[in-house]
Amino acid sequence: MNGSLENKRIAYFSMEIGFDSRVPTYSGGLGILAGDTLKACADLKIPIIGITLLAESGYFFQKIDEEGNQIEMPTNWSKDDFLKLLPVRVSVNIEGKEVQVQVWEYMMKGFDGYSVPLYFLDTNIDENDEYQRTLTHYLYGEDKKYRLCQEIILGIGGVRAIEALGYNNIEKYHMNEGHASLLVIELLERTKKENGYDIEAVRKQCIFTTHTPVPAGHDKFSCDLVRNVFHSALPFEMPEMFCQDDEINMTLIGMNFSHYINGVAKRHQEVSREMFPDYKINFITNGVHSFSWTADPFKKLYDKYFPGWKQNPFFLKCALSIPEKEIWEAHQEAKKPLIDYVNRQENVGMDYDIFTIGFARRVTPYKRADLLFTDINRLLEINEKVGKIQIIFAGKAHPQDVEGKELIKSVFSRIKELKDKIKAVYLENYDMKLGKLITSGVDLWLNNPLRPREASGTSGMKAAHNAIPSFSVLDGWWIEGHIENVTGWSIGSDKVEAPEDKDLQDLYGKLEKIIIPMFYNQRSEWLNIMKHSIAINASFFNTHRMIQQYVTNAYFK
Ligand SMILES: *Cc1c(COP(=O)(O)O)cnc(C)c1O
Repeated sequence: MNGSLENKRIAYFSMEIGFDSRVPTYSGGLGILAGDTLKACADLKIPIIGITLLAESGYFFQKIDEEGNQIEMPTNWSKDDFLKLLPVRVSVNIEGKEVQVQVWEYMMKGFDGYSVPLYFLDTNIDENDEYQRTLTHYLYGEDKKYRLCQEIILGIGGVRAIEALGYNNIEKYHMNEGHASLLVIELLERTKKENGYDIEAVRKQCIFTTHTPVPAGHDKFSCDLVRNVFHSALPFEMPEMFCQDDEINMTLIGMNFSHYINGVAKRHQEVSREMFPDYKINFITNGVHSFSWTADPFKKLYDKYFPGWKQNPFFLKCALSIPEKEIWEAHQEAKKPLIDYVNRQENVGMDYDIFTIGFARRVTPYKRADLLFTDINRLLEINEKVGKIQIIFAGKAHPQDVEGKELIKSVFSRIKELKDKIKAVYLENYDMKLGKLITSGVDLWLNNPLRPREASGTSGMKAAHNAIPSFSVLDGWWIEGHIENVTGWSIGSDKVEAPEDKDLQDLYGKLEKIIIPMFYNQRSEWLNIMKHSIAINASFFNTHRMIQQYVTNAYFK
């Protein structure tokens, strides 16, 4: 294997990598971004490898009962249908005991046949004891100790595994979020001399990307837990270096040992700098893998007008030249399978020609899934007087997110109140496949989180690839992608912590006065916005552009 490897490789560490809905080793945005990133690397022949945990029991399969209660079922998938077990073993020390780790491989192929290997770490081996064998089962188990063990396997086990696989030419280690930060401990250990560690050498090798502006979203462990779990394997005075208020913050470890740190949108950079004033934080705005998120009717259209767009999504900037009629036909063709799916699943009789709003994301209070239902009567009035509406919801709540689950129930009961007047559904088990169906099949993509908590958001970018405008709060990527009445519409002002009244005023006001009338009565204006969604947003908010920025700003600088 050695000789054939390129001279310089990037090692990309992520707790989740979502690349195919049949391999449910992801929970949402972070993992799908990782998968989309590595797909773009394969297309562009960027020498990179991905390292993650196996998550053998997946995230979960979501069922929702009559009352709107979320029921979590294990996801069954057959790892040997997709992955190949490699003859390589490493071990990590957890609580004073060696845990064996084996490695599965998946080859992600780009358009020209170049492959990016993904490595899945797995502790479900006979030699390990019962607890150790479960450590790579669940994605984000709630138990703190379990999660710390997982991070040891990912960070420390990951660095050892790459070396055992024969990669001795890693140029940079990219930590996709703090779950991977422990890799710096292993790198530091390797620089150890009698006079200490070579911190600068490690820093030169490391890159850190932060993904959340919510303080509670940063991974933290109590110093005692770290001491106990690392036991005698604690390679240096980590607790003394990093303990703050008796906690160790994985984001701080990652940032402290990285020469390049970035947030995932411009606003996110600003918010992160306020949270971590001691660090120089850059930004590279997220993207999506264009080919993966474009529905077939638009793929055909892009193939016809911009051959080569798959390798170079910048070509989509010429979308204004596509005839309106063809955009509309492609959209109707992409809408049909979604409406058919909804009617098959929910038996609600949705109509292909009615204005359809889509809202799908992880369900947690700050995303405000029920904001549209704040004033049901107003919504009914708009539906009655201005133009008919259909609404499609989807999204999982994290199993431990009690408030998120309540929110699903609340959306469910509001949907029942609308019965017969506005057709609305909550679809089960939002995954990549359903995500693609929804982000290509609705007429408007709605997003209304509390500012400034949306680091980037990517589902609106998927919608843009399918000519679907966004109607969104000014946060994350939408601050960069929004031009009023050109690529879509804003909700509220772009001030951080703007009052909710203004959000509601815009939400109902713009639907009533601008959006719905334009959809039904000014089709040509509407199509112009659809075209600009592709030309301005899909051409830029893709992982091809994004990874090129990582290459020039961070990877090979
Ligand atoms: C795209 C996607 C996400 C992330 O979308 P956001 O806009 O960042 O919330 C989450 N889950 C699924 C299934 C997706 O397809």
